[in-house]
Amino acid sequence: MGDSARGNTFKLGFGLMRLPRNDDGSIDLPQVCRMADRFLEAGGTYFDTAYVYGSGDSERALKAAVVDRYPRDAYTVATKLCAWQQCHDEQSAKQQFYTSLERTGAGYFDYYLLHALQRSNYRKYDEYRLWDFVKDQKAKGLIRHCGFSFHGDPELLEELLSAHPETEFVQLQINYADWENPGVASRRNWEICAAHGKPVVIMEPVKGGILADPISAVKEALSSVDPDASCASWAIRYAASLEGILMVLSGMSNLAQMEDNLSYMKEFRPLDQNEQLAIRRAQELLDADRAIPCTGCRYCTEGCPKSIPIPDIFKVLNRRKGSPEFRTIREYSIVTQGKGKAGDCVQCGQCEAACPQQLPIPRLLESAKALERNP
Ligand code: SF4
Ligand code: SF4
Repeated sequence: MGDSARGNTFKLGFGLMRLPRNDDGSIDLPQVCRMADRFLEAGGTYFDTAYVYGSGDSERALKAAVVDRYPRDAYTVATKLCAWQQCHDEQSAKQQFYTSLERTGAGYFDYYLLHALQRSNYRKYDEYRLWDFVKDQKAKGLIRHCGFSFHGDPELLEELLSAHPETEFVQLQINYADWENPGVASRRNWEICAAHGKPVVIMEPVKGGILADPISAVKEALSSVDPDASCASWAIRYAASLEGILMVLSGMSNLAQMEDNLSYMKEFRPLDQNEQLAIRRAQELLDADRAIPCTGCRYCTEGCPKSIPIPDIFKVLNRRKGSPEFRTIREYSIVTQGKGKAGDCVQCGQCEAACPQQLPIPRLLESAKALERNP
């Protein structure tokens, strides 16, 4: 990857996966425009979307808020091709690239990624010959830098980087809560990228928002060191303090989150020794807590034959501790109204295969069944 791509000192990327929405479910475009304006004004350039985000809403919002309003050299676009969702064969997988070009109106992609590779799906990318397809688009000038996002184990990452040395960067899930989590392997995967000389784009630094509002013990440990810093700022600065980082993506959902992110990423200062110690304490506290580490990405729900709102049920279960049982039951009945219940699960395993956190979903749903027996 060239110096211009590596040399960017503004490390915050605007993730477009969790954009603000109106009550009718549509994207709140005026707010997205204000967020994009603030981001670009502060020195940001990197916008990260994907073909599958919001069934195309995210790419279309990028066009309306950025591409149609700014010159092409004011920003960079990253988007992704997913071989295991919203396509059924080689042709429909490749069509995602052309549709993304059309939806975004960007003309070309600065960064193009094969999306969310893991054990359960990586062979699809070979089967559909997508590695070569991406190389061809790069040769045509329609892609500047190619990479992949990854949710698998370190052995698979090693295998992929050895088989595809043309990869210019890797997007990894890295956050302080998952640094040593064997299901995510943040540290080991980051080390493998370093050994292969591949810069890393960090996704989920705030773990789908969980680390913006962590358990109270973690909040106390962090605020005892800096009472004014938001919990999200700790998580993002931790990620951005690592070596070899191209960008840290934050999936911001409103203008207030944008302002918070910019307040510490505009003039970025890496964590000092004392702050690193506070993070270590937070890691210990999280390890001792047994909440379900679901990030709310919803990759699991698309293929569920029973339309079970899996991440919403996990949220209810995670809030259960310390909450009166009747409230948990009420919350459970609200999130499952008109949808599948935990008890409807037929153990088909589709959700598990899609989950980037490798969560044993059917087993975890078992504990929600008790909430159905208490009307
Ligand atoms: S295992 Fe259960 S929750 Fe998962 S996709 Fe199948 S029916 Fe849905
Ligand atoms: S269970 Fe897994 S796939 Fe489903 S929303 Fe949570 S993290 Fe994502």
